[in-house]
Amino acid sequence: MSLNCPFCQSTNIMLIEASTSQANTALSSLGTPATLAALGSTVAKSFNLPPIVGGIAGTVLGGLFNSLTEQSTPRHQSLYFCHNCYQKFPTHFLH
Ligand SMILES: [Zn+2]
Repeated sequence: MSLNCPFCQSTNIMLIEASTSQANTALSSLGTPATLAALGSTVAKSFNLPPIVGGIAGTVLGGLFNSLTEQSTPRHQSLYFCHNCYQKFPTHFLH
């Protein structure tokens, strides 16, 4: 896969991450389906339920949680940086 700068057509570009806020990152890592699935199976174990029940419950909760946070928090944006002309541009400029 070769990517070109939309300004100077150079291939000397690099993907940089533009994260919006630290709190947002911490919140989304807490609410990942994998984390909640693990949490769910731990809870299920303490109630003598099969771990799969807790896993499913955690995944469903995680999906709900993610859809809620996605609406209220700004989306994580990826940017490319061109080493040739020093321009920054979002990934959709390449498509
Ligand atoms: Zn460029």
